[in-house]
Amino acid sequence: MSNYEISTKCVQGGYTPKNGEPRQIPIVQSTTFKYDTSEDMGKLFDLEASGYFYTRLQNPTNDYVAAKLAELEGGTAAMLTSSGQAANFFALFNICECGSHIVSSSSIYGGTFNLIANTMAKMGIEVTFVAPDCTEEELNAAFKENTKVVFGETIANPALTVLDIELFAKVAHEHGVPLIVDNTFPTPVNCRPIEWGADIVTHSTTKYLDGHGACVGGAIIDSGKFDWMAHKDKFPGLTTPDDSYHGITYAEKFGKEGAFITKATAQLMRDFGSIQAPQHAFILNLGIESLHVRMPKHVENGTAVAEFLEKHPKVKKVSYPGLKADKYYDKAMKYMGNGGCGVVSFEFAGGREAALSFMKGLKLAAIETHVADARTCCLNPATSTHRQMTDEQLEAASIPAGLVRMSCGLEDAKDLIADISQALDGVN
Ligand SMILES: *Cc1c(COP(=O)(O)O)cnc(C)c1O
Repeated sequence: MSNYEISTKCVQGGYTPKNGEPRQIPIVQSTTFKYDTSEDMGKLFDLEASGYFYTRLQNPTNDYVAAKLAELEGGTAAMLTSSGQAANFFALFNICECGSHIVSSSSIYGGTFNLIANTMAKMGIEVTFVAPDCTEEELNAAFKENTKVVFGETIANPALTVLDIELFAKVAHEHGVPLIVDNTFPTPVNCRPIEWGADIVTHSTTKYLDGHGACVGGAIIDSGKFDWMAHKDKFPGLTTPDDSYHGITYAEKFGKEGAFITKATAQLMRDFGSIQAPQHAFILNLGIESLHVRMPKHVENGTAVAEFLEKHPKVKKVSYPGLKADKYYDKAMKYMGNGGCGVVSFEFAGGREAALSFMKGLKLAAIETHVADARTCCLNPATSTHRQMTDEQLEAASIPAGLVRMSCGLEDAKDLIADISQALDGVN
């Protein structure tokens, strides 16, 4: 499908039925797969033949949807995981081991920050955080002898900063390591990081890709471009024999195009077992079939709401990369000419109290720990996801106490603005 437009890939990518086969992706609701001989099965275990043997590692339904995501992002291989957290962990841990070092943007999803800064630290993997808009010199200075990977988010959740993907990719490659980009917020409809030099792309499919708040899930897509063998000493897991797989060297046997995902499946999925349920993969695919129709509407509503809030006297500050006045507007235009996403952040001078009173007054927008859904929802991080932090800590993390994050859904913008407007009237 590689010559088709992104819309066509959203609808038909990943799965082409043969004569008499189901038109929709079949849900293979089976934990296991039958073989005529033990020798046939042995070939699968040795990775000599491709096929399915146990759904903890792979399932055809998941692979159809993963193949669609690979086409959408312009990659060579992909896998689904049980959550976005699992996707980012697998993507990083597939390269890093005890003694490795990660360079990461500091402006990333809270769960990923915790994963890297605390949980992976317990595994002996260290990190240096850099600002998403750091200079080339600052970025270079973050590297160490043992740096294995650079990580960032295209549009960060919740800070809405935009990553300079081209610069981060260039510097990563100069140091002989790949760039992983979490592309959850723009989705491949609005940005394809691989076209800007990213090597591996991750997703929380829980967000826009599903788009209906129905299933938690994640995905990893490999560009197939990073030459592991050219940096043999840095990536022994990919470039030297794997004793747990009969001495296979992934980068030799599966090449640049297949090594990363094969290793992540054969080792990490085998050992950690964070597979996405085939039922969820099916529902995820229904979401992706309309992704190209939904994303422009999310952007339209996000822009309308951001422009309304920007002019409102009760609102102190609005963050939305699509606003001309936004610090990240130029970068957003460069990487996401059609717009980024429908998430808008704005701040009340009156702090928590004003934010909470505003949210209480909303009738259409619901209070939820969620974003990127068909239904508009909002959250005050200071009293929910970040409630353990003091006002000073919140300020330092660019999440002031009076901040509201609003994820604009697919409703009519007029109704959303009327709802926001009446709720603002009730704020003192
Ligand atoms: C939500 C989110 C995650 C985590 O995904 P889950 O599916 O909730 O595990 C990772 N990255 C970003 C950018 C997210 O928004």
